[in-house]
Amino acid sequence: MTRLIRAVIDTQALRANLARIRSVAAGRRVVAVIKANAYGHGSVAVARALADDADAFAVARLEEGVALRDAGVTRPILLLEGVLSREQLGEAAARNFELVVHEASQLALLEAWRGTQRFTLWLKVNTGMNRLGFDPAEVVAARARLAALTVPPAVLRLMTHLARADERGSATTHEQLARFGAIAAPLGVETSSANSAGIFGWPAAHGDWVRPGLSLYGVSPFPHETAAALGLTPVMTLTSTVIAVRDVRADDCVGYGGAWRAPRAARIAILAAGYADGLLRSLPSGAPVLVGGQRAPLVGRVSMDMIAVDITGVPGIEVGSPALLWGRDLPVEEVARFANTIPYELLCGVAQRVAFELA
Ligand SMILES: *Cc1c(COP(=O)(O)O)cnc(C)c1O
Repeated sequence: MTRLIRAVIDTQALRANLARIRSVAAGRRVVAVIKANAYGHGSVAVARALADDADAFAVARLEEGVALRDAGVTRPILLLEGVLSREQLGEAAARNFELVVHEASQLALLEAWRGTQRFTLWLKVNTGMNRLGFDPAEVVAARARLAALTVPPAVLRLMTHLARADERGSATTHEQLARFGAIAAPLGVETSSANSAGIFGWPAAHGDWVRPGLSLYGVSPFPHETAAALGLTPVMTLTSTVIAVRDVRADDCVGYGGAWRAPRAARIAILAAGYADGLLRSLPSGAPVLVGGQRAPLVGRVSMDMIAVDITGVPGIEVGSPALLWGRDLPVEEVARFANTIPYELLCGVAQRVAFELA
């Protein structure tokens, strides 16, 4: 049974993007970020596809790591938010997870820990994001507490996260990197500060480990630069199917609220794709859909299971014709701009109802 809406995941493109990242951040090790179900691509499938290519994987939370271990993923897995309780710490030990330590309460948990697991720990420094991490003045003391643990860390690394790396030349990023460098240099430990935008925009941020997320999936982290220009190939192709075609007259309205009124006689294709599949309801009339190889505008409101597309002048479209919602020939970045959001949100939102296939 073929489902009407499908996300095809191109594992070769995934590996090519990782190779591209390695060539940009030459000689650095790579933590492939596969949190949030690998940005909607399927974390187990992505981890398997990159098992020989990534040095480690990162997820946000314990349960995401558990799902990967249960699926047989043996590579190092880093929990970007660390753990929050003794139970979680025990589970992290049992699953051999690496931990971010960003909070004093996590130091206390480790100090109270009586297990034998020697953790690999990533001490997080707040250099200006003001979300997670120890302030620069607290880092030396935090590190001393970790070094004094009954079971000392197997490895201790230092990391930070950049708030504005997607803005080329941002003064904030210069400041964050300067703060981080000043703390890291005297400690003599491995460092990590670059997400995708840091990798492609800030060579000074590369450190010892880079942490690509979005770029792995072939999507540009910069608002004004395409993935193609960065040498990246989209991994997800989201396609739907035409389930009805109708002709409307001038002044007929289409969909809920009569939100679109035909300015002239028009041919409308109804596609099986709605907000229950992950299309945002904020996608306005005019947002592009690729039908019959041509860009055609969405018209009217996105509903739960359907959208309408104006295919006037697009020949050969009938019930059963495929339509591309995003992918190589229609970058998700472009669709995101229409929805007034970022490609991250669209990708993460692809719903369970969509059929996932590996190519
Ligand atoms: C999500 C995340 C990344 C990856 O960011 P991208 O912009 O998707 O490359 C890297 N580091 C941390 C700490 C993250 O939370």
